[in-house]
Amino acid sequence: MNHDDPTWHRDTLAVRQAVPRSPYGENSEALYLTSGYVQPSAEAAARRFAGEEDGYTYGRYGNPTVSSFEQRLAALEGAEACIGTASGMSSILMLCLGLLKAGDHVLCSRSMFGSTIKLIGSDLAKFGVESSFVSQTDLSAWQAAIRPNTKLLFAETPTNPLTEVCDIQALADMAHNAGALLCVDNCFATPALQRPIALGADIVMHSGTKYLDGQGRVMAGALCASQAFITNTCLPIQKSGGMTLAPFNAWVVLKGLETLDIRMQAQSARALSVAQWLQDHSAVARVHYPGLSSHPQHALAMAQQSGLGGAVLSFEVKAQDPEQARRRAFYVLDQMRMLSLSTNLGDTKTLAAHPASTSHGRLTEDQRQAAGVVQGLIRVAVGLEHLQDIQTDLDRGLSTIAQA
Ligand SMILES: *Cc1c(COP(=O)(O)O)cnc(C)c1O
Repeated sequence: MNHDDPTWHRDTLAVRQAVPRSPYGENSEALYLTSGYVQPSAEAAARRFAGEEDGYTYGRYGNPTVSSFEQRLAALEGAEACIGTASGMSSILMLCLGLLKAGDHVLCSRSMFGSTIKLIGSDLAKFGVESSFVSQTDLSAWQAAIRPNTKLLFAETPTNPLTEVCDIQALADMAHNAGALLCVDNCFATPALQRPIALGADIVMHSGTKYLDGQGRVMAGALCASQAFITNTCLPIQKSGGMTLAPFNAWVVLKGLETLDIRMQAQSARALSVAQWLQDHSAVARVHYPGLSSHPQHALAMAQQSGLGGAVLSFEVKAQDPEQARRRAFYVLDQMRMLSLSTNLGDTKTLAAHPASTSHGRLTEDQRQAAGVVQGLIRVAVGLEHLQDIQTDLDRGLSTIAQA
């Protein structure tokens, strides 16, 4: 068995890293649907429950299919270890429950995924965890907001939906100087483009629901970090909190990882073409995409993301006021016949959505303004359809926008 040959390259690990084959010699990784495990002896069961011996005991604590997913994602991220969770949000909850206590402070970007802002900014506040939110791209604002009780810096890059890029290495240094940890939400770039741990991040957080699955089928999440952090900080929360990743979902995402690199390259190339086309469109006021030279952090993004912009872009329709902007954005979305009107992303099907009324709809108007999610903004997660068909579908509304 050479499933963990240390000379293997990333491309190889993406399709080969897994737990050993079963005695049946299946070529595709097995899907182990079981909630419990038969123990070899009462003594062995006691040792396993005490953590003195490896071995599966109960589905909430671990599963071989989930282990294969965890090992493969850890290999791709260049992390020592990984823990799978039921969703991306549950991985953030696990991190916060494991790492923080009342009186601790979390420092975040104010332009992160809406539910992340809600979880850290509002839900955790009920338990006495303090938080502050600063401009994604302003390093001096991050530095100024650090407090003596800051335990965690949390960054997402590029952000959803404005694709703002922050400097991972600089934030890692800042966190470490303050005795804090840096967690990076690597959902948009994925390890195909960006590996935050190599840049100094302590923890990488994933929504496996997005590009890791890649075809919009299941919910999944994960944290990647050192073995000590996963074993001592995350696993105890998994055991008591039960954010367990279902084996079937783990299996789907495990297989998705095999094609992650080629999907991200193909979808990034299409996204760049769509962004360039939108930039020249007379109905479009502004395009947000890290691959465009007009993007404020273009150079940093290219250096940090293997020269690719990723597959998500957003754009603002031209309008005179927020009310007209919202009406026009809705009009463009309602004219689509092929693109899916869906708030998800990371699919081979191109998806488009109106963030201000959906993913960021639960935020207060102040939080939304701070995040820059204006009423005319449309987010497009570019898939694998033909470029011309994607443009035709968007142009149906854009070219007749005066009717809105
Ligand atoms: C979707 C998403 C999440 C949350 O993941 P779920 O799997 O939906 O819980 C977190 N961060 C980003 C950037 C996302 O796009």
